[in-house]
Amino acid sequence: MTATFAIVDALVEGRVSHVLWRDGTVVHVGAGHGRQRVAALAADAVVDAAGGELIPGLHDHHVHLAALAAARASVPVGPPDVIDRHGFTEALRQAAAGRPGWIRGFGYHESVAGHLDADLLDRLAGGDVPIRVQHRSGQMWVLNTAAMATTGVGALEHAGVERDAGGRPTGRLFGLDAWLRDRVARTPIDIAAVGRELAGYGVTGVTDMTPSAAGDDLTALAPAADPGFPVRVTITGGPDLPDDVLPAVPRGPVKILPTEHQAPDLDDLAARIVAGHARGRPVAIHCVTRVGLVVALAAWRVAGVHPGDRIEHGAVIPPELFGDIRDAGLLVVTQPNLVAERGDEYLTDVEPADLPDLWRLRSLLDAGIAVAGGTDPPFGHPDPWRAIAAASARRTRRGNLLGPGERVTARRALDLFLGTADHPTRLRRIASGERTDLCLLDAPLDDMLENPSSAAVRRTFGADLVRA
Ligand SMILES: [Zn+2]
Repeated sequence: MTATFAIVDALVEGRVSHVLWRDGTVVHVGAGHGRQRVAALAADAVVDAAGGELIPGLHDHHVHLAALAAARASVPVGPPDVIDRHGFTEALRQAAAGRPGWIRGFGYHESVAGHLDADLLDRLAGGDVPIRVQHRSGQMWVLNTAAMATTGVGALEHAGVERDAGGRPTGRLFGLDAWLRDRVARTPIDIAAVGRELAGYGVTGVTDMTPSAAGDDLTALAPAADPGFPVRVTITGGPDLPDDVLPAVPRGPVKILPTEHQAPDLDDLAARIVAGHARGRPVAIHCVTRVGLVVALAAWRVAGVHPGDRIEHGAVIPPELFGDIRDAGLLVVTQPNLVAERGDEYLTDVEPADLPDLWRLRSLLDAGIAVAGGTDPPFGHPDPWRAIAAASARRTRRGNLLGPGERVTARRALDLFLGTADHPTRLRRIASGERTDLCLLDAPLDDMLENPSSAAVRRTFGADLVRA
């Protein structure tokens, strides 16, 4: 298929322009009378932008594609879809009535029904049909009695199997995703549908931050490398992921996930940073607590910093650490959408002392710290325009303000998604010679940013139009 497109009468940085795009590169940007000439150069693929803005396709720096596809085939059991015990029971009972076999719930949070274990899951949703429920943090699964019996978790010797005082498993599993996946009936997932969904938001690139240890974990992502997939995918994987897994797919940083249910171990973390750097790649360390960040910074001091090293999330960053982060040259990859999506729970659950330090943005930028954005689906909503809106409003679902001093303009928030996979703060532009995919809006950008919404995304020009 042809890969040269002319997009005519588009607004580019406020000026009516005619753009020629070929195989992922802006070949030419002209104005005024250039329209005919640009259109003639791509006579078989001319798109009339009708005054809509043309911007670089958005890059989401933190996603989990396979988990997002699995979530699309699962039962939401957390806010905003489900907010109480009654809703939890109804959602799982309806799912059980609709199909035989395993039920997969996702997005659970304690605000729904409290501390969830097998006993409570049996009481609320029944113990006969195997049910597994993933916590919204992505760090824990809860199995009901039937699921524990089917998987044989009682016989598993692993620190991630929580047990009660009598040694009986509680149904709560930590760090056992791969083990569990091998023992459940697979939920058929549709990666192609996820690609179309993301492109619908104007996303043309993503970095998949799943800390996969084995190739099997990534086989589900293979369709993302096929022609026709509209989003360019960079994968990361954990320190143990072999290089020969999906060799055609570019590698980003090595993802390091400190174990959250145990005390952080400085030496272990430093060793994992060294191992990641030894593979010639930066590392990205999952940091969502004050202590987790302090330990990660200490580990970096021991192991050294590699260009491109990143603090993943940076959910809690006290100002006394700003200088260390900036001086080390670390990038923070933040999720402004979680302010809107989880803010109400933060306001009741989070230590009051931590509230001002939650999901900082403006203060990080003012301190000279490099920041990029990701939406963290399926744990956050994958529409980056919601993140852009949340970054400028800092309003929760119920309308409460969270950290209003951390607001940035919507235009500044858009920049969080305009970097490249390798250089998240090197912003792409629509300019001759620039290597970038494109996102066409149906309105001028300034108008759209008054109420940021992916509804204004008309189409993308991305990887699906490049691969011959
Ligand atoms: Zn994540």
